[in-house]
Order: sequence, then C-alpha cells, then structure tokens
Amino acid sequence: MSAAVKTKTVKRIRIDVDKCNGCRACEVICAAHHAQPRFSSTNPARARIRVIRYPLSDIYVPVLAGEYTAAECPGRDRYVIGGKEYEECAFCRASCPSRDFFKEPDSDLPLKCDMCESDPTLEEPLCVQWCLADALVYEEYEEEVKDEPAPDEVDEGLLALAHRHGWDRVRDAMTRMANKAPGA
Ligand code: SF4
Ligand code: SF4
Repeated sequence: MSAAVKTKTVKRIRIDVDKCNGCRACEVICAAHHAQPRFSSTNPARARIRVIRYPLSDIYVPVLAGEYTAAECPGRDRYVIGGKEYEECAFCRASCPSRDFFKEPDSDLPLKCDMCESDPTLEEPLCVQWCLADALVYEEYEEEVKDEPAPDEVDEGLLALAHRHGWDRVRDAMTRMANKAPGA
C-alpha cells in the first residue's frame, strides 16, 4: 500500500554565491548552536555549513550539509568555474565515507543541516541571521509529500554506524545500553 500524501511546509536557504564574501560567520554560529552544551564552542568542524574559499580568485561558495550516504560515488566529474577547476566533491552536500567534510569531529558521525531546529522555534535559521552580506536567504513553501517520517540525526547516525560495524553490532550495543539506562 502506498503512503498517503500530505502538505508540508518546506524550509530552504537560497544561496547567492555572488554576495558571499567568505567571512565564515555562518560556520561559526552554526558550530556554536550545535555545540554541546549549546554555544560552548565555535569549532567550525561541527558546522553544518562549509564555505569553500579561494580568496585570490574572490570565489566563495557556501555549501549546506545534506543527507548521509553510505556509498562512495563510483566516478568524479570536474567543474571549471571562472577558469578554476574543481572536483565535484568540493560542492557535494553529503557526509560520505570518501572525505572528512560534515562529520562530527569527536564521533565521526554524519552532520546534516537541521534548519536550526530548536525550542522555541527560531524565526530564521542562525546562519541566515548572521550573514550580513545577504548571501543566505530563508524561504518557505508548501509541497505535497508522502506521509512518512523523514530520517533524523539519530537515524542517520545509526545508519553510519551500521555501515561501519554492521547491524548486528549496532543492535547488540543498543540492547546493552538500553539495559543499563536509568529506569531500565
Ligand atoms: S556569513 Fe554569508 S557572507 Fe559570510 S561566509 Fe557565510 S554565506 Fe558567505
Ligand atoms: S540552517 Fe542552522 S543548521 Fe543549517 S547550516 Fe544554517 S546554522 Fe547550520
């Protein structure tokens, strides 16, 4: 039986590359917002946005972390922009096994932009608020989607661990830890 369809508010950030000046304020505030405890550090390795910077060519490209992928791409394309050559990996949003981008530095678990989900809800994501150059613009629109839960950070973390260690080890560890949890 196919899943029912519902209307969902989709949040997105429109990136105007021409306006980005490479200041990296977006990385700093994203990292701080996702630090544990919140705002306790500003390590850009924890940011879910990464600014590709080539100051000598005045090229700055913000990239937001997307879905985790367990599979490496079998091939690579190359892009030539403004006379400079880039591998497609440079612009890829995925946290994948091939590279170190968008991985939590302590655990190596995948990072994904969550639009700054927080309680209370923010009017605009923090990277948008902190981008004084208006290179990041927050937008919302309605879209029909299948009525299925989207994978969240826990789902993607478990998937990454299962890919690395196998589902049996993940299941064993979860059972062991659940038994040790307070109130178990
Ligand atoms: S805060 Fe804005 S201008 Fe600065 S690096 Fe990020 S996107 Fe670019
Ligand atoms: S929307 Fe929030 S989580 Fe996503 S990149 Fe911007 S600051 Fe980070």
